[in-house]
Amino acid sequence: MLFGRRGENETVEEKREDDKLRARVDEANLPEIAKTAAIRELERLDRMDPSVPEFAVGLNYVEFILSLPWRESSHDNLDLARAESILSARHHGLGHVKERVLEYLAVKTLRGMQSGRILVVDDEEIARDNLEFMLSKQGYDVVRAANGRQAMEILSRQDVDVVITDLKMSVMDGIQLLESIRANWPGIQVILITGYATVATAVEALQKGADHYLSKPISLEELREVVRRAMTRCGQLRLSRGPLLCFSGPPGTGKTSIGRAVAEALERKFVRFSLGGLRDEAEIRGHRRTYVGALPGRILRELARVGVKNPVFMLDEVDKIGQDFRGDPSSVLLDVLDPEQNASFMDHYLDIPFDLSGVMFIATANLVERLPGPLLDRLEIIPFTGYTEREKIAIAKNYLIPRQQRENGLDRDSAEFPDEVLSFIVRDYTREAGLRGLERELAGICRKLARKQLINGTKDTIVRVDEDMVRRLLGPRRFTHEVAEGVARVGVTTGLVWSGVGGEIIFVETVRMRGTGQLILTGSLGDVLQESARIALSYIRSRASEFGVDEGFFDAADIHIHIPAGAISKDGPSAGVTIVMALLSLLTGRPARLDVAMSGELSLGGRILPVQGLRDKLLAAAQAGVKTVILPAANADDIAALAPDVTEGLEVVLADDLAEAADLVLLPG
Ligand code: ADP
Repeated sequence: MLFGRRGENETVEEKREDDKLRARVDEANLPEIAKTAAIRELERLDRMDPSVPEFAVGLNYVEFILSLPWRESSHDNLDLARAESILSARHHGLGHVKERVLEYLAVKTLRGMQSGRILVVDDEEIARDNLEFMLSKQGYDVVRAANGRQAMEILSRQDVDVVITDLKMSVMDGIQLLESIRANWPGIQVILITGYATVATAVEALQKGADHYLSKPISLEELREVVRRAMTRCGQLRLSRGPLLCFSGPPGTGKTSIGRAVAEALERKFVRFSLGGLRDEAEIRGHRRTYVGALPGRILRELARVGVKNPVFMLDEVDKIGQDFRGDPSSVLLDVLDPEQNASFMDHYLDIPFDLSGVMFIATANLVERLPGPLLDRLEIIPFTGYTEREKIAIAKNYLIPRQQRENGLDRDSAEFPDEVLSFIVRDYTREAGLRGLERELAGICRKLARKQLINGTKDTIVRVDEDMVRRLLGPRRFTHEVAEGVARVGVTTGLVWSGVGGEIIFVETVRMRGTGQLILTGSLGDVLQESARIALSYIRSRASEFGVDEGFFDAADIHIHIPAGAISKDGPSAGVTIVMALLSLLTGRPARLDVAMSGELSLGGRILPVQGLRDKLLAAAQAGVKTVILPAANADDIAALAPDVTEGLEVVLADDLAEAADLVLLPG
């Protein structure tokens, strides 16, 4: 709605506000496109009644343009030795992650150090000679072309960072060359050289996408500065090319913490934003300004907040974008993450492109299988796995406890946590692959100790934390050891599965009742899991006599298989063996040992096929108090490759065939 020219009802404050904005736009070092958009908006406001809501919307828009870091970036520290010591000092273990991150930084550093190549295009030989002489002296690698067409030939054969071209040439002039470069190699920086008389054309050229221009006669200083600016820009692009890192693994295993350490090593700002459960594309890409209350997307808002265009930006839980996401998640994510596409990222609110190519994105995901294919292709997945109890204790001692003591105002040696007590906390108060719960419990203890210290005035005494004190401070234990303490029952078996939060224990329950030969499956089982159940039933029916089961067991009966909920999304083939064992127990009447856990895919012929996620499954088994784990013989090499403390305290039995495994699980009837 436009309300004609400003009337007398305009208040002094409002006028001052948009005049101030105008002055700020003039002074700000905005790129042409942003400046034009801001000025256009201010002109629109000039014709608007300041009392209408749109007026404030317009002011906010200009404010937002001014708040964005169009040119501001921090300088990277590319000292690898320093990066290595930062990563090591902050983290226990995680060798493969640190290695891979350092390799990644090394490649970036090398790319950043490659000397830039410049293509000089001019139809006068003497001009080419002069430019080549000046640029080579500055250490650039220079190639030359006599006109636009020759230039295009060279570009199709060689990598070039910057093109410096004359405007007037007989075969394919500068503007035509510029247009072809923009269409074919958007990343190349183009500097146009114009005569005095053609300044208007230069402005046109900038609008067409030239990055800089130089007017004749060229001053050496100006040339140096313009080329340096263009090269910095290319350097950033080169640095951001290459695969994108995606840290995948259960919560609390150090993904964020490593991301932060990378930012610290590079001396970049760190931003984190979770996509978990996001429903609307507009959260990422902003609302169009035609909506009342429209906001820019989170990506740009975060950049405005940190004030630089090159932070380390962690996009958490990219696999958890809501199922009912409005828009296409993979195309939004590629627009944001892919350096080929994100150099001209369009936020609907901003409505002009913003260059995200300087941002170092790191994605995190719990389950990479859930990621859309096109995105997965661009990502380099770095797996994080759960920690063993021993690792958890070491991390607690060296990192979590000192940090919690510091944060709660306690001296570093004010409390002692013996290993047995830490192990007690890990076992009875947490059940997780990572460290979040443990850190929370330790924080709870430190907080309570701080309060005690203050009340009792006992700052100098060292508190030795023991199990009784933990019980008093944290309350009764949170987890029971149902596996170790439970009794063998008929028709119930213990299985190991893998989900987004790490390895997990599941129980498969079965019953048989009078009926009409139906298989009933409950417990929100996914398709693959339902198939496993059918395979298990068919296998037993086909071999009934071998197992001593009455062949007619399914004739006038229904069988119900249930896997109690938990918060586990249940799918995948690795519960096959657990299901068949529960059925065997049910049909033979032999109780199944609860402390024997298994994982394996079942083939219709009764063979046990290999499974994945062994480390996390074994960790979950140990934590739940399982004594024996039955795993597929085909996984022997994977198991041999695991660190010895992963299998510590567990008897691991490798089985090829179901009959072999049955005697381990089923007690005599
Ligand atoms: P994620 O991002 O994977 O959910 P976090 O990085 O938030 O996990 O880690 C949870 C906590 O555990 C943080 O306090 C982190 O510093 C700590 N932590 C995780 N892994 C390690 C490790 N290997 N060494 C030291 N501390 C760790």
